[in-house]
Order: sequence, then C-alpha cells, then structure tokens
Amino acid sequence: MTSRSMEKEPLPERERKYLPELRTLLENLPFPWRPGARIAVKVHWGERDNRSFLPPHYAREIVRHLKSRGCLPVLFDTTVLYSGGRRTGEDSLRTAAVHGYSEDFLGCPVVIGDGMDGRDVIDLPGFRHFETVQVAALVDRVDGFFIFSHFKGHLGSGFGGAVKNLSMGFASRAQKQRMHADAHPLLDREQCTRCGVCVEACPTGAARFPGEESYPEYDTDLCIGCAQCIGLCPVTALRILWDIDPAVFQERLVETAAAVWRKIGERTVLANALLGITTDCDCWPGPNPVIAGDRGFLGGTHPVELDRMSLERIGEETFRRAHRGVPWERQFTFAREIGFSR
Ligand code: SF4
Ligand code: SF4
Repeated sequence: MTSRSMEKEPLPERERKYLPELRTLLENLPFPWRPGARIAVKVHWGERDNRSFLPPHYAREIVRHLKSRGCLPVLFDTTVLYSGGRRTGEDSLRTAAVHGYSEDFLGCPVVIGDGMDGRDVIDLPGFRHFETVQVAALVDRVDGFFIFSHFKGHLGSGFGGAVKNLSMGFASRAQKQRMHADAHPLLDREQCTRCGVCVEACPTGAARFPGEESYPEYDTDLCIGCAQCIGLCPVTALRILWDIDPAVFQERLVETAAAVWRKIGERTVLANALLGITTDCDCWPGPNPVIAGDRGFLGGTHPVELDRMSLERIGEETFRRAHRGVPWERQFTFAREIGFSR
C-alpha cells in the first residue's frame, strides 16, 4: 500500500482506539527542546515481510506533536547485520516506504542514522565490556531525540523496548556484531525438515548442507551470530547456543544503550508502545504470535525506568514464559552497577 492510499484509508480500529491516548501522553511528557530544534525520532519500521511492526500512524502523531511546537523532526533507523530488507540504507528506506514510513505520510524526512552505507559512525566511551561503543553519527548531528519503541518479546534479550532501541537501534553494524559475537545456532535434528531456509538466509555462508542427504551445519568461524537462521526456521528446530554466559549479552546490550544515553540523555524523551505484544521482535519475517493483550502507551525520561514500568504493566511472567532461560533480569542489575539507572 502506498502512503497516498494509506492517507485515504479509514484509520484501522486499533489506531483509532489508541491515537487519542498517545496524544494525551505527548501533551503530558516533558518538552525539553526550543522551537527550531532538530529532533530525531528513533523508530523500528519492521523487517521486510514482518507483520508485527507498529503502523506509521503513531510515529506521524509524534512528528505532528514536535512540529506543532516549532521543532524540525526527522525519522530514522540504522542498517542491520543480516540479509533481508534493511541491510543497506537503500533497502531499508524501501522497506520503510512499503510499511508506510515515508516522508509523504509522516510529514518529515526519513533517514538512515549510520548513513546509506552504514559507515557514518562515531565512537563513544564504553563502561566494562567495550573500551568504545560505535554508534550512528546522528547522535552528534541533531539537537534532541524522541525514542519511540515497540515493547515486545525478544529471542536474545527476553523483551525489547527502550533500552534495546537505544542499543541495537543506534549501534553501527560493527557494534551490533560485537554484541552478538558469541551466539550461534544449535540444531535439533528431530525437528529439522532439511528445508534449507536457514542456509538461504545466512548472510555469511556459515550455514550450509555438507552433503545432499545431510542436515545443515553452522560454521562458528563464519557465523556472526545474527540469529537470522533461528528466527526464520519454520519449525523452530534452531535455538541460540551462547559461547559465553548468556548474561554477558544482556550486559553488552545495556552497556551500548548506556553509552548512547550518556551522550543524548539530557535532550531525549521516550515512549513505549505496549500494543501488538509479540513473542519476538519486528526483525522477524512471517508469523510472530501475540503473547499479551494491548496495554496502551507509557512515556518517560529514562529508558531503564520506562522498560521496568512496561514490564510491570504487561506482567513479567509473560516474558519468562515466552523466553525460558533468558536472564533478562541482568539488564536491570547491570544498569545499576554502571550507573545507568535512577
Ligand atoms: S530452516 Fe530449520 S528446518 Fe529448515 S533446514 Fe534449517 S534448521 Fe532445518
Ligand atoms: S549461521 Fe550464524 S551468520 Fe548464519 S544466519 Fe545463523 S546466526 Fe546468522
């Protein structure tokens, strides 16, 4: 559907129901920016063929709110590691437009924060795991940020909300790789149908069939831990095998977000959408079961606090059930240890 045809379509029922709530939230959130300030709105416009991404109507409402007070919004996301519809800037903008995230519909430019080739990046000081954390150079180019996140489940981090959006969402491809480096697929042969989807999807050639009648194998030297094979396997025959304590992934995720936050926190406001709460993130093409009912929006001025509130509103048990064994609680204790909390 094009932006122009979307404009003429009646509002879908969920958007009709929740847009007034978002308007009220925006009116009540702090507005730390002066008229004329350039504000970058961070969103995730969904992987190609994903069906659980947030529709663009909410982002458009945020853009309208910023413009109504004289600010100059620009909407952005960053390039990703895996093949699909967002690996390059060109692909990602095409995917954005197909999902309705276009300048025509939103009323502001849509850009790639780390550049069309993913190389417009800067290094920020790290905390414990990283000496430096590499992120989109956009952090240096605008006056403020509005972080708009879809709160839902996530294969590696248990849930994904504001912290994940600041972390993976701002990270350069190299930084994304550093966070994922120790994750590899583990095959359950009993489940595997040898369909070959994982082999086709693998961006590095790590997944392959060693022989015609064989099961797929995954070369850990070539594997970049992008988890695309795991997400796409139609019969869930793959799961993540960590070469490290899985809590370390939670720490790396939080550390990247904390480095970004130290740079932009004072000029940033956040909102989480607790709508269409699915098992996995908006990077997965295809089916993504809903695990909790809609809970509206929450906003705030600290990402860790906002994610904590979101978890409490939905119920922590939902995410424990959806991703058994993922030590996501470590996100909160680690945030406290490095001073990334209130
Ligand atoms: S996608 Fe899943 S079922 Fe298909 S070959 Fe790979 S592991 Fe086996
Ligand atoms: S084998 Fe590794 S690199 Fe290939 S899709 Fe799976 S996780 Fe990604």
